[in-house]
Amino acid sequence: MAPVSEQTIFRNAKLADGSLADLCVTDGRFNAIAPAGNAPLAGPAAIMVDLGGQLVVPAFVEGHIHLDTSFHGDAWRPHIPCTNGFDVRERVAFQAQNLAAAAPMAERAKNQLELCIGHGSLAMRSHVMVDGSVGLSHVETVLAVRETYRDLIDIQLVAFPQSGILSSPGTAELLDEALKLGCDLIGGLDPASFDRDVKGHLDAVFGLAQKHGAGVDIHLHDGGTLGLFQVEEIAARTKALGMAGHVTVSHAYGLGDIPADALAKAGEMLAAAGVAIMTNAPGNHAFPPVAALRQAGVTVFGGSDNIRDSWWPYGDGDMLSRANMIGYRSGFYEDRELADAFDVVTHAGAKALRLADYGIMVGAKADFVAMRALHVPEAVVAVPKDRTVYRRGKVVAGDGTILAR
Ligand SMILES: [Zn+2]
Repeated sequence: MAPVSEQTIFRNAKLADGSLADLCVTDGRFNAIAPAGNAPLAGPAAIMVDLGGQLVVPAFVEGHIHLDTSFHGDAWRPHIPCTNGFDVRERVAFQAQNLAAAAPMAERAKNQLELCIGHGSLAMRSHVMVDGSVGLSHVETVLAVRETYRDLIDIQLVAFPQSGILSSPGTAELLDEALKLGCDLIGGLDPASFDRDVKGHLDAVFGLAQKHGAGVDIHLHDGGTLGLFQVEEIAARTKALGMAGHVTVSHAYGLGDIPADALAKAGEMLAAAGVAIMTNAPGNHAFPPVAALRQAGVTVFGGSDNIRDSWWPYGDGDMLSRANMIGYRSGFYEDRELADAFDVVTHAGAKALRLADYGIMVGAKADFVAMRALHVPEAVVAVPKDRTVYRRGKVVAGDGTILAR
């Protein structure tokens, strides 16, 4: 006998265009979306859920996080300032001290995952540190945690050279091994200011990407023309290797402090090469101009980055509050601009992460969030915390708490 399909009909869902609809979910996917009251006849075993006019949006995409280094749910770690201005090497040393005294990594990673899922993120890209001091231990732990949460959230892992590649002997081999173990992308870190060898660093990163058929996601904090130069180098390689849609520059602060004509040129180049930009709208830095880059056709997506770790004490794992922050720092006031901020944490993230069948549409996976809001722009401004999170049409979290495991 053929297995009976599981069917749920969500009545009175408010869509992004303001209309009320009935959403039919069969075997975890939307198979019909009809004006409210017009859902196709349900099978006898169908479950009916009345959403009562709540706004329904696709589950959020957490595009950049560090599952291995957060202390969320662990003891509070007071921030230690650098002794002589911001210094990545010094911060990595503080991080090592903090991690030595922390709860087990698997426990901290799970705390952070549940925080994110509770707020409605059901897809994520996490960077995981690989270097001579920790070897592959972080990757092995986070790979196991990913497996445990496979039914709740889709996770991509980036093998992240936190201590550089050329300046940390043995790291290139470890990154190679991390990709063999199951990491999906190869990371990078400030090729100029950290390894002081842009060509050497990018040769290693793109060489590994080609070898494994992996995507690339490079942390680039360098500002001004030094940052711009590296963005151009990354775009040129992406184009030359035919890797459009598979490469991200995370942070790219430099795009936020260059003249308008240089930015326009960079935007054109990034769009043509198919390189995405990730921003978390950082607190005290220039950051990529979201509107101008989107206008140029660049995919700009969002992430929390650090959450209560050795880099800063902020971060709540809520991508709707991140959309609020991105909109606030970008000076977005009009409804269409607020909707753009929302797009950064939903559809643009899905595009950058190459998620298949994403969104509120027939055929898509029924991963969505329901909440009380007038519409999308109001949700970005109000950030309602009372939400219900559905994974493949089934409730997994409510009011920030995981309900299903
Ligand atoms: Zn990061």
